[in-house]
Amino acid sequence: MHIFSSETVLSENQKVSHPILDNAEVSLDIKREDEIHTYVSGNKFRKLKYNLAEAKKLGYSTILTFGGAYSNHIAATASAGEMVGLKTIGIIRGEELSMDFNKTLSENDTLQFSSTSGMHLKFITRAQYREKTSETFLKELAKEFGSFYLIPEGGTNELAIRGCEEILTKQDAIYDIVCCAVGTGGTISGIINSTSAHQTVLGFPALKGDFLSEEIRKYTAKTNWKLITNYHFDGYGKINRVGVEFINRFYAQQHIALDPVYTAKMLFGIFDMVQKGVFPKNTRILAVHTGGLQGVAGMNKKLKKKKLPLITI
Ligand SMILES: *Cc1c(COP(=O)(O)O)cnc(C)c1O
Repeated sequence: MHIFSSETVLSENQKVSHPILDNAEVSLDIKREDEIHTYVSGNKFRKLKYNLAEAKKLGYSTILTFGGAYSNHIAATASAGEMVGLKTIGIIRGEELSMDFNKTLSENDTLQFSSTSGMHLKFITRAQYREKTSETFLKELAKEFGSFYLIPEGGTNELAIRGCEEILTKQDAIYDIVCCAVGTGGTISGIINSTSAHQTVLGFPALKGDFLSEEIRKYTAKTNWKLITNYHFDGYGKINRVGVEFINRFYAQQHIALDPVYTAKMLFGIFDMVQKGVFPKNTRILAVHTGGLQGVAGMNKKLKKKKLPLITI
């Protein structure tokens, strides 16, 4: 039995206790999607579920997808493919990583794990990577690897959003506010689609840029959502001392591990907003923990090089 063989996968909502929440008289629960699986965690499970089923239905034996060298989506796809018996090919940004493959693997936990899970890794230049949706480039890849089921970078497509519509349950209608971290916008779109009209969804982008609202509008017609754009910590994959200390303190107080790329930025933002009195008394907040903890090891290597404190979860 594995997570893809059961009809419904539910995660628990865990209450967070903190004086900042008490003072503001608001409540915060965390939906522990991170507990679904160590590598196919959180939203990546939701995004892959219907895509893998579709690939099998259409008779494909191989999945091909794109990602950066620390990508949660790459690790999740590798692990999921192994679980359901589909070959996986990961096209990774950064040609320099192919120069000494063994060294790359020994220095990068995400790629090491993905390779060990059976994923074939191909490294391409950043210029080639920008062509990842072009027909010509995809045809070249098909010539090299044979036919494959394509999952876009980050895993976002219509079927991924359908999977993310299963994150919230009927019982979650008790919350006034639902928060989630945003990368490509797929996960929040699924969450928005499954909310009731009285709920507001707040998205916390993990990166700079104002293209995300437009992306989200491609996947949902609802308007009960908003992006909170000032907690990206200077951009994608970036974190500073304040962010690391927040993660370590949160773990010590709540025994919940946060990832530095997405969920830590969201929770930092929620606490800051609560402290600033943004939410009225008795507001019930649900924050979705979308997983991503496999990325901590890679981030700690970067932090060590910069002589910053390490994440100790
Ligand atoms: C990928 C990822 C996200 C972003 O999801 P999108 O659907 O791309 O917006 C958020 N949190 C975690 C932990 C992730 O790995």
